[in-house]
Amino acid sequence: MKLRFWGTRGSIPSPGEDTVVYGGNTTCIELQLNDGSLIVFDAGTGIRELGRDIENRNNNQNINLFLSHSHWDHIQGFPFFNPAYNDNTTITIYGCPPTYQKLREILTNQMESRYFPINFNELKAKIFFREINNGEYRIGNARFYFIQNNHPGTAYGFKVTDGNHSVVFITDNELDPPNGKVTTWKQFIDFCQGADILIHDAQYLEQELTNNSGFGHSSYEQAMRLGLDAGAKHLIFFHHNPERGDREISRIINKFKSLLASKNCTMSLSAAREGLELRL
Ligand SMILES: [Zn+2]
Ligand SMILES: [Zn+2]
Repeated sequence: MKLRFWGTRGSIPSPGEDTVVYGGNTTCIELQLNDGSLIVFDAGTGIRELGRDIENRNNNQNINLFLSHSHWDHIQGFPFFNPAYNDNTTITIYGCPPTYQKLREILTNQMESRYFPINFNELKAKIFFREINNGEYRIGNARFYFIQNNHPGTAYGFKVTDGNHSVVFITDNELDPPNGKVTTWKQFIDFCQGADILIHDAQYLEQELTNNSGFGHSSYEQAMRLGLDAGAKHLIFFHHNPERGDREISRIINKFKSLLASKNCTMSLSAAREGLELRL
C-alpha cells in the first residue's frame, strides 16, 4: 500500500507562513492498494491538488471516495476535484449512516448556485453512492472495517488491511467525551490493535481540552495512549488545530518522541504533513 497526505488541517484551511511545513489544506488522504486501486479518504481542500495529480496519471479512472462525515472541512474540496468533471472517471462515494441517507443532497447543496457556479448535476464523471454499514467491506483483496467515532453529528473511522499490513484512519474523534461515549476506549483499542499505521485526531493539547470538551476532538496525549495501548507501530497525529503553527507542532512532536524514547517505546511518531508519503 502507498499512503499520501494531501490535507492534514482541521476545521478550516489555514494557509500562511506558519503552516508551510505541515500544510494548510483540510482533510484528504490518498491510499493506493496493492492492486493499484485508488482510495481517497475525505474531500477537504487537499483533494484539489490530488485531483490535479490524478489528471496526470494514465490509470486510476476509478476513484473510491470514503467520507468520514459531512462536516465542512471534510467535503468542501469536492467542487474543486477535477476528476469529477471528466466523463472517463467513475467516482464511488461511500458514506456511513446517518449521513449516507443525505449524502447526495449534502454534496448537491454545497454546489447550489448561491454557493458555487457549477451544479452537481453538471459533473461529467459517473458518480455512485454506496452506504457502508458496520462490518466488513472488500475492494479487491483489501478489507475495510468501520467504527463510529465520538463526534457531534457522527463520524466514522476506517481500517484497511491489505496483504500483511493495516492502516487505521480516525479523524474527528473525541476519545473521552464529556457526555457519554458511542464507542468506548476499549473498542477503539480493539479496532486499532497492531495497526502498522494509526492516523488519529490530535487537535488539542491536554490543557486545551477543558475549554474544548464536547467538540469531538482528542488531545495528543490521548492519541498517544491509544497508539500505545493498541500496540500501533507508527502513530501519526492528524487534524491539526488551525491555530497551531509549524514550530509549535514540531516542538510537540519532539517532546513526545523524547518521552517515548525515555520509556523505551518502539512506536514511531509523526505529525501528518502535506506531501508525506509512506509505503507498506
Ligand atoms: Zn474536521
Ligand atoms: Zn467534524
